[in-house]
Amino acid sequence: MPTSQDLYAVYGASGCGRGVMPLLRQQLAHSGVASEQLVFVDDAPGPSHINGQRLLTWAQFLAAPAAQRHAVLAIANSTIREQLAQKISAAGVLPLTVQAANVVQMDAVALGEGAILSPFVTLTSNIRIGRHFHANLYSYVEHDCVVGDFVTFAPGVKCNGNIVIEDHAYIGTGAVIKQGQLGKPLMIGRGAVVGMGAVVTKSVPAGATVVGNPARPLQR
Ligand code: UDP
Repeated sequence: MPTSQDLYAVYGASGCGRGVMPLLRQQLAHSGVASEQLVFVDDAPGPSHINGQRLLTWAQFLAAPAAQRHAVLAIANSTIREQLAQKISAAGVLPLTVQAANVVQMDAVALGEGAILSPFVTLTSNIRIGRHFHANLYSYVEHDCVVGDFVTFAPGVKCNGNIVIEDHAYIGTGAVIKQGQLGKPLMIGRGAVVGMGAVVTKSVPAGATVVGNPARPLQR
């Protein structure tokens, strides 16, 4: 349970972070946490406040009096997220999971630390998800999927059943990933990028970028 002395940071004060702060505010609304305990942290200079919350530098966040510090990494770039995860861990800051009040989680969902689940996200049953997952507006993960660490879903991603998504993959807005088979999942490889609106009908190798319907490797 949160205490009234703790500080709660949304790390990253740009588009992603500004969408996460209201969810955090709502999540902590009935826990006795005051508005001043919710802050943005950003490494770039900015105004004193953003949407009513204080903006602190990392140094200011660490120097501010607090019994315990928590941070959610609200930055879409997964490589930066991984670097910041190491940084907050080394500083004793606890990773924070933030989810909208209307998120649906069904049975046997194992969700790693530091996730952001935006409004209207659904995670159905028997799903395993790694650390610092971002599932943006209206995305879903269907049954028997395994999702790695630092995976990012843009809005409206349709991740159907029996799919494995490896670490650092990025799935673009409105992409549809075809259901895999029991024991023979459709695989999205480590660091792969699925373009917006793509219809993925077969596995995507690690590091590849695929676009279109049916999704094919991007010719540069
Ligand atoms: N940022 C940061 N520390 C880092 C890298 C990025 O504080 O090590 C901040 C950066 O200053 C910016 C935000 O994270 O305010 C990323 O914003 P951007 O608009 O690039 O992406 P998004 O909000 O969509 O993730």
